[in-house]
Amino acid sequence: MAQIELKQVEKRFGDFQAVQPVDLTIKDGEFVVLLGPSGCGKTTTLRMISGLEAVSGGKIYIGDRDVTWRNPADRDIAFVFQLYALYPHMTVEENITFPLEAEKASKEVIQRRLKHVVDLLQIKHLLAQKPGSLSGGDKQRVALGRALVRKPSVFLMDEPLGALDADFRETMRAEIKELHIAEEATTVYVTHDQIEAMAMGDRIVVMSDAVVQQVGTPYEVYYNPANLFVARFIGSPGMNLLKGALEDGRVHLPGGNKYTVPDQWRAALATQLSSDRVILGFRPEAAYAGGTGDLGAEVYASDLHGAFNMLHLALEEENVEAVIHIRGERGHSHVIGEDMRFGLQPEMVRFFDPQSERAIVLEERS
Ligand code: ATP
Repeated sequence: MAQIELKQVEKRFGDFQAVQPVDLTIKDGEFVVLLGPSGCGKTTTLRMISGLEAVSGGKIYIGDRDVTWRNPADRDIAFVFQLYALYPHMTVEENITFPLEAEKASKEVIQRRLKHVVDLLQIKHLLAQKPGSLSGGDKQRVALGRALVRKPSVFLMDEPLGALDADFRETMRAEIKELHIAEEATTVYVTHDQIEAMAMGDRIVVMSDAVVQQVGTPYEVYYNPANLFVARFIGSPGMNLLKGALEDGRVHLPGGNKYTVPDQWRAALATQLSSDRVILGFRPEAAYAGGTGDLGAEVYASDLHGAFNMLHLALEEENVEAVIHIRGERGHSHVIGEDMRFGLQPEMVRFFDPQSERAIVLEERS
């Protein structure tokens, strides 16, 4: 078991800054997900923790050891990649026990550890097979088994489910989470899939353009995004964001709408906004359709998302910036082109400064 600490860790490839200096502490036994779009630097960050990539600056600690300049083999880590990287000529059993054989562990230790991971992953029936005859999911289970067998204190995983079919990914997600709980290994997991990150992470490190944008629990990054990037990137669809101007305690929005700022936000907006311009943010489920809602918009599409309808609304016809998505009432059908009223639950409303792109923070939360 081990805590991982990154202190001002950064990476440059020549003149190109792939990872800006990052400070991050991953607690012993924690499951942390590095999340962001392609090219944001998450794999490079993971590879620096593993020792496969040298840092350009900063220090990395695993447990109380400074491992910045130690070899991967000397960091007490195990790595699982998207592509299974199994040895095709070896059986499943040989693939799993290979790391222990390489360490010249005793026969007794090898058999004990093999039994442990085989029971954990329920792959006893596969032991005599070669990787070529296995399904994608079983290959990934074997790869996990090989990573687990040494009982590493740190698990590093780079998009391990990326090559699997969508329905199978969900099963494997749950299995990896169970393994993590059973083994209590500190885990760092890379993905570009925000749904996977939300489902698996104790905390999520959201990255974009080589910069850590926010570190928080799934709840925090979803409901309290630190900036516009996180607000848009997390959620499907992302947070609704409407540009407006603040005047006399009301936000003037497209389509002639005026939204009265909830009392608890007034002081924070007054001190933190850089001008009278503001962005109002809210998740689709923060809006309730119908009734005497404060805001009005035109329905331009409605699609069924299983348990609810997602309504797509335009606050001003030609203005694509003012398109929002809210949840419709169950069983209530809306007509395309219909004007409808909706309100926002005040505790679920957020505000952003358009200039800095940062979230306005309630004083008691700052
Ligand atoms: P992906 O999901 O596509 O792998 P990522 O967020 O993991 O994306 P990285 O692989 O960490 O991104 O890459 C970050 C940036 O660094 C990218 O622009 C990439 O092209 C660049 N990069 C990565 N490795 C090297 C390298 N060895 N030499 C030069 N540039 C590199």
